[in-house]
Amino acid sequence: MQRAGKGRTPRRPKKPSNIEKDPVGVYCRIRPLGGEDEECCVEMISSSTIQLHAPDGLKANRNGEYKETQYCFKKVFGIKTTQIELFEDVAKTLIEDLIHCKNGLLFTYGVTGSGKTYTMTGSPGEGGLLPRSLDMLFNSIGPFQAKRFVFKPDEKNGIEVQNQLDALLERQKRDSQQSVPKTPSSRQRVDPEFADMINPDQACKFEGVDEDCCYSVFVSYIEIYNNYIYDLLEDAPFDPIRPKPPQSKILREDQNHNMYVAGCTEVEVKSTEEAFDVFWKGQKKRRIANTELNRESSRSHSVFTVKLAQAPLDADGDHILQDKSQVNVSQLCLVDLAGSERTNRTRAEGSRLREAGNINQSLMTLRTCMEVLRENQMCGTNRMVPYRDSKVTHLFKNYFDGEGKVRMVVCVNPKAEDYEETLLVMRFAEMTQEVEVARPVDRPICGLTPGRRQRNQAFKDELSRRLEERGGPVNGDPVQLNQLIESLPPLPPCELSDPSDDQTLPRLMEVLERRYRIRQKMTEQFNQTANNMKFALQQFESQFSSKENVLHDQRSKLGEKDKVIANQRTEIERLKTLEYKIDILQKTTEMYEQDKRSLQQELESREQRLQKELAERRRMEQRMQGVVTDTKLKWERECERRVNAKQLELQNKLWVKDEKLKQLKAIVTENGGASGGPAEPPRKPERPSRERDRNVAQKRSASPTPLSTVPPVHPMHRRSHSAGGEKWVDHKPASNLDLDTVMQPIIPNAIKVSTPNEKALSKCHRYVLRHQELASDGEIETKLIKGNVFKTRGGGQAVEFTDIETLKQEDPTAPSFSRKRRSGSGEGPAQTDDIENRVSSMLKPPVANISSSHGYQKRRRP
Ligand code: ADP
Ligand code: MG
Repeated sequence: MQRAGKGRTPRRPKKPSNIEKDPVGVYCRIRPLGGEDEECCVEMISSSTIQLHAPDGLKANRNGEYKETQYCFKKVFGIKTTQIELFEDVAKTLIEDLIHCKNGLLFTYGVTGSGKTYTMTGSPGEGGLLPRSLDMLFNSIGPFQAKRFVFKPDEKNGIEVQNQLDALLERQKRDSQQSVPKTPSSRQRVDPEFADMINPDQACKFEGVDEDCCYSVFVSYIEIYNNYIYDLLEDAPFDPIRPKPPQSKILREDQNHNMYVAGCTEVEVKSTEEAFDVFWKGQKKRRIANTELNRESSRSHSVFTVKLAQAPLDADGDHILQDKSQVNVSQLCLVDLAGSERTNRTRAEGSRLREAGNINQSLMTLRTCMEVLRENQMCGTNRMVPYRDSKVTHLFKNYFDGEGKVRMVVCVNPKAEDYEETLLVMRFAEMTQEVEVARPVDRPICGLTPGRRQRNQAFKDELSRRLEERGGPVNGDPVQLNQLIESLPPLPPCELSDPSDDQTLPRLMEVLERRYRIRQKMTEQFNQTANNMKFALQQFESQFSSKENVLHDQRSKLGEKDKVIANQRTEIERLKTLEYKIDILQKTTEMYEQDKRSLQQELESREQRLQKELAERRRMEQRMQGVVTDTKLKWERECERRVNAKQLELQNKLWVKDEKLKQLKAIVTENGGASGGPAEPPRKPERPSRERDRNVAQKRSASPTPLSTVPPVHPMHRRSHSAGGEKWVDHKPASNLDLDTVMQPIIPNAIKVSTPNEKALSKCHRYVLRHQELASDGEIETKLIKGNVFKTRGGGQAVEFTDIETLKQEDPTAPSFSRKRRSGSGEGPAQTDDIENRVSSMLKPPVANISSSHGYQKRRRP
């Protein structure tokens, strides 16, 4: 941006380090192949990436050294991209920036034939970036342009502003001077080749133009060839007889250290067509010079500069503010660089070689400058950038040093022959993207109220309407003028026919005096009316200004209200988000509370269960204590009972022995006295029936008859172990389990075997088998099956089973147990019977004897 300082480009202040920067915008455009059968070495693989393939010949030659390479850009435009699409992406914002007083630089770069000129200039119907940029600029600022020569370039890269009158005078002067280069009029016929560059449907316009400013566009067009600068718009007469080589221009630095081409023609243009025309003129001149001097156009750089001057309207909105410090100048440079091919490819000789060398030199310098810039920016170094080494870089030094937007369109021809050069172009382009350029800052707004132009226009419209209502401006109507003349006293005939005529002249004098008086009166009237009008106007003006003040106040109030509304809106938004957050929090709280309630319920139920279990356990303890005391009591009773039984048994034995003794005594006494009768043969042991057993038991309930003659003991069957002397075979099968019972059968004098054998049996009289089985209640029952051992006639052993003793252990909690316990404990007489039965069994052959006891049952069966 160039502004302030007597309308000249201002010195750029030293940039603070935190200034915002943008990288150079690099775009890539691929042109279509010339012929369909040509080999293609470029492929667009995404909207920002292209891939280069080495052509077949190269691949073979370099033994696979060349492989596919990819390059990324801000955007890649494929072969189908139209000029308008490219313009919208690449140049549109540059024009917007230009109108916003920001500088821009747009250049095309690539190998010759890759489409640089096509991209920049285009062809009829397919206008390139340059004509489209001009078109958009004039579409945007069109109605707000200043009159010609209001803005006037000085000779030092600045632009001055002059008042309307001076501008008018200058216009007239220029019109009268035929020799001075005349700026073409927009009404002039436009070159047909350029007339239809842009389709009217594709016209672009920027809507954000400041209407309270006046604008003027200046264009200049230069060519840099062999590192010389030529002005393509200079109006030097061409002498066909003695052609003069064109004079080159030099670069200068202005007051503010911006570079410019000294003495370069800057043409003020007022329309797209006019600007096209100027450009076309430059193109023609370039073509002529190329032909005349045998130059090659692809070896020159062309720079078309669009300079936009703008200054605000004054407070009335009628005239440009005559304050040179308010003039802003911005520029957009559109550069079509020379082809980037290397010297050897141009097949140049002699002066051509020098040209090629120079092209290369300037492009090389551009490349070096970019590299050094990038290094300085990336590594924080401070190497000097060699801008001065070539004219191109020197001219654009300020874009990279200062600020501005820089964009580059890299043009690519995908044909195989260009592959190696295209590679170099791609590398340069990719590197350039890493260079950053300071972003232009927004210009300060002038302090005047906006909308001045519109208000002024509205005022003018209103004034002309009112004047029309009152009959229009007086001097504009010839009929009214005639009427006025007719109302004056008519002039008498004033022809002098006689020298002595002394009447005609006095009459004429009288009429003229009368007329003079009328005129004076009319002048007075006019003055009065004018004064009245002036007064009314002043009043109107003061009213207007007070209204304007009120309006201004209202506007500022409105602005404040707007701000308040905006604040309220943000507040509302904030509150909404807060409400939303609160909602979420409430929902979360509810969820947590529900959780809490359910947890509490669970806790309570668990506590209740715990209490119940505790109570249960206490009850159980009490019950167990009861069971323990019960069991203890029972066992005490049982022991007592056994002791009693034992005593009874012993008494019985004693009694039996006594009886035997008595019988022996009686036999002895009988044998000693009279011969005794034959002794009753011993009764053969017989299996007593239950019936008999019961009868016997009934009989036995009375006290035994001591005088019975039959010995009460079965001679073959001695039940008691303590009867002594008897030897037992204790047959305990290996499969038997060891039960942890209190009562264990103890058989003294026994030979313990797990399988009976004859040897053991021959030594014993008695045999007992310990047989275990599962009772119906699931308890293990041990049966002691006893028998006598006989010697058989054949000399073997036989066992006659005589008795079964059942041993059983019971669970006290089992229902059968409690039943038994109840029946057992409550029946005293049954117990007595049992003892009696047992006693009788001592004396009788084994009978069924059922005894019940707590936890231990002993049953004997024949
Ligand atoms: P350069 O300026 O890079 O030497 P030109 O712009 O003169 O190349 O292009 C060479 C030729 O290729 C021209 O005839 C031009 O019309 C054609 N051309 C280039 N780019 C395109 C494109 N994108 N679409 C169609 N034709 C193109
Ligand atoms: Mg070209």
